[in-house]
Amino acid sequence: MKKLWNNKNNKEIFDFCEDYKDFISQNKTERECVISIREMAKKEGYKDLKDLITSSTPLKAGDKVYATNLDKCIFLFKIGSRPLSDGMRILGAHIDSPRLDLKPNPLYEDEASNIVLFDTHYYGGIKHYQWTALPLAIHGIVCKKDGSTVNISIGEKDQDPVFCITDLLPHLDRSPVKTAENKIVGENLNVIIGGIPLNGIESHPNPEIDKVLKDYSIEKKELVKSNILNILKSYNIDTEDFISAEIEVVPAGKARDMGLDRCFVLGYGQDDRICAYTSLKALFDSDSTDFTLAGMFVDKEEVGSQGASGMQSLFFEDMVAEISALLGETSPLAVRRALRNSYMLSSDVTAGFDPNYADAFDLNNDAFLGKGISFNKYTGSRGKSGANDASPEFIAKIRELLDKNDINYQLTEMGKIDQGGGGTIAYITANYGMNVIDCGCPLLNMHAPWEISSKADIFEAYKCYKAFLNLKN
Ligand code: MN
Ligand code: MN
Repeated sequence: MKKLWNNKNNKEIFDFCEDYKDFISQNKTERECVISIREMAKKEGYKDLKDLITSSTPLKAGDKVYATNLDKCIFLFKIGSRPLSDGMRILGAHIDSPRLDLKPNPLYEDEASNIVLFDTHYYGGIKHYQWTALPLAIHGIVCKKDGSTVNISIGEKDQDPVFCITDLLPHLDRSPVKTAENKIVGENLNVIIGGIPLNGIESHPNPEIDKVLKDYSIEKKELVKSNILNILKSYNIDTEDFISAEIEVVPAGKARDMGLDRCFVLGYGQDDRICAYTSLKALFDSDSTDFTLAGMFVDKEEVGSQGASGMQSLFFEDMVAEISALLGETSPLAVRRALRNSYMLSSDVTAGFDPNYADAFDLNNDAFLGKGISFNKYTGSRGKSGANDASPEFIAKIRELLDKNDINYQLTEMGKIDQGGGGTIAYITANYGMNVIDCGCPLLNMHAPWEISSKADIFEAYKCYKAFLNLKN
């Protein structure tokens, strides 16, 4: 094991992580990630594959293209000099993260308190209680019937208001049987939105208020809700618009350095934007020209990778077929071969050993923060269910590559057997017959509002991905 931290490369690690912190602070939803990745790719000379398909513009070695689907997943390709059917070098990561989504009819006023709240339905595996008593921001998109859209981001700027889900004060919470975890249920994750009644309750009845209540078809007692609806109107959002909206509640604020020595990053959505960002940078910085390179940044991993923007979608395969056609190879066999002959790093975070919960881990087989990128031969749970199982032949090839490039890595599992487990996108791309292995940075607090990573691992992941793009057959 080489030393990750030494005076020579510490500055390089810290500098790299400044940009990483900016990326995860500014991109807290899959849509925001797609838009940012697309803008970054355009600056690197990537063109929209859709335009090239429309104009039947042929592709050649050195060309760079991107393809987005529903603005929620994006694939990047850099065409190599070898035939596409020789396979690609693929870096894959997911850009969705656990969070709270607004329900289709989210807004209501509590009768007793006259507090107005947003009702939420959580996304991904969360511990409910962790989302209470902390500042929250609201991000998303509202699609109007006239085809226009309203983008929302409230709670990130210093002058913005933030939001909060309450927890019961300890004074009234002395019940011995309930633990923090089972006390707060999903249905109770309601976000406080406001408390001022429309023009003040005292002034009611009032013709102006009556008009607003009539406009919103609201009962007279819901004056605070009316006031909030008026505020939403200033954002060009009507009550009914929530049914065609995608609004996500996430922790408010930026990613921060953590520790007196600034060793760690504390930030939201590091699962799996930590692997997405490092993969993206590696793709941009790669000097590999022979094999076609691909970057996958997909949605829906946290709920099983289904849907048009998830890895199970045929969209990636379709885009490979489109590229193959623009390279002058229209045989479906060429596409099957391109996929089958590819090598892929399915990059996702894993659990880092946590000294506070040592019992959950197997010291000999778990990942440690600050010891480099972590590789998992298999993931899954209950006897590896749901896992891709990387072949030892492929792992040997990866070992050789990592050692040759002085990259620190660990071969790990996620926690003790039957303690739990988790899945990734690896098993889906493995369906093509390609060689794929799971790897990524270990985290502490995974799936909590604020997750912890080691800066040394972030930089090591970037180096690993860059080396991988040069992997020969
Ligand atoms: Mn993940
Ligand atoms: Mn996850």
